[in-house]
Amino acid sequence: MSDNTILIKNAIILNPNFDNKKQSLLIKDDSIAEIADEIDESGVGKVIDAEGKILLPGLINTHTHLSMTLFRGLADDLSLDTWLNDHIWPMEANLNGEYCYIGALLGAVELIKSGTTTFSDMYFYMEDVARAIEDAGIRAVLSYGMIDFGDAERRENELNENLTLFKNCNGMADGRIKVFLGPHSPYTASEELLVRTRELADEYGMGIHIHVSETQKEIDDVSAEKGLRPFEYLEKIGLLGPDVVAAHSVWLSDDEIDIIKKHDVKVSHNPCSNMKLASGVAPVSKLIENGVCVSIGTDGASSNNNLDLIEELKTASLLQKVTTLDPKVLSSDEAIEMATIKGAEALGWDSEIGSIEVGKKADIILIDTNAANMTPDSSNITSNIIYSANGSNVDTTICNGKVLMENKKLTVLDEDEIYAKARQAIKELKEAI
Ligand SMILES: [Zn+2]
Repeated sequence: MSDNTILIKNAIILNPNFDNKKQSLLIKDDSIAEIADEIDESGVGKVIDAEGKILLPGLINTHTHLSMTLFRGLADDLSLDTWLNDHIWPMEANLNGEYCYIGALLGAVELIKSGTTTFSDMYFYMEDVARAIEDAGIRAVLSYGMIDFGDAERRENELNENLTLFKNCNGMADGRIKVFLGPHSPYTASEELLVRTRELADEYGMGIHIHVSETQKEIDDVSAEKGLRPFEYLEKIGLLGPDVVAAHSVWLSDDEIDIIKKHDVKVSHNPCSNMKLASGVAPVSKLIENGVCVSIGTDGASSNNNLDLIEELKTASLLQKVTTLDPKVLSSDEAIEMATIKGAEALGWDSEIGSIEVGKKADIILIDTNAANMTPDSSNITSNIIYSANGSNVDTTICNGKVLMENKKLTVLDEDEIYAKARQAIKELKEAI
């Protein structure tokens, strides 16, 4: 063995069957090479003693807008409509690639510190976001947010932008970046744009990332214009399939749940954003009962206002319990799956990430239980993570076999420099309005 090996010993490993025990794990290059009760450490490049720490897959955030981390706290306590029209869109009009790069780096710092190693993004200036991801060492699915409002010229430009992103960035950063198509939503993307999206998805084997059924207003508007509810309309025009990740999916009829199931559409649940913008409560426990793949997303930090996926999972679980008045729904095991294997399935990446198994990529985090909010140890590890922990209990973050944070210290990114640049960027953007 050699320098390209990392041995993590004495860790409580959260394995896919929740049959957790203290073991050692060996990383070779970018993958998990061995998991055993004991592994010989002679000749190993680096040894991490994970006594008192839980080892689990790097978390997967299936819906966010990373550069919007710059807009954290910009405008709060507003409806989605007012928030977008009066605050976010005017600010976005002055964005450029450099601002988006800085915003994405700021988001990456937060993701790494709170244990997320993979995220799915939809925004603008995505080649600059790709650059930030390459620098940060994490993994991402990137899509360009296509909006045409029925304008044919704009539609061509948007499609070209997303295709150029695919050609320039798919497979970039040692395969850590994949590119999806990102039609923004059924109310901002025309039928023609959505039909073209499906054709390109089939031609290039790209996934599709779209916001669907976020607010009641969207249901009313789409129903008035198309005579169908959003998922009925998307089914009719042929957009739906197992490669579609539908963010939000809050307002669903029983027929629409059947449609989602029938086409194996993946749902990304964003409870904090839905609660903060008072959009509604997605029927997550009902979707899971129906066998739908439901993953978790934070949405942008401007409507959350953080990217802490552990906090998001707790919110998801509690929200389902109080809405259904059934404390048994969305258990801590199910919640953990939403941020690991279900997230990987949603992004078509489950053969490589989302669980701790030999042969998979070494996307791994350690959570330190030697903390006030995690002591005494719960007999149920997932309960200790979901209900007691938060992102700041994450101690070590590894992505693609590379250590990005150890003992809560970032090893690749310079966080103070990034905070200073982010503060300067938002100052300039506010002055430009
Ligand atoms: Zn969103």
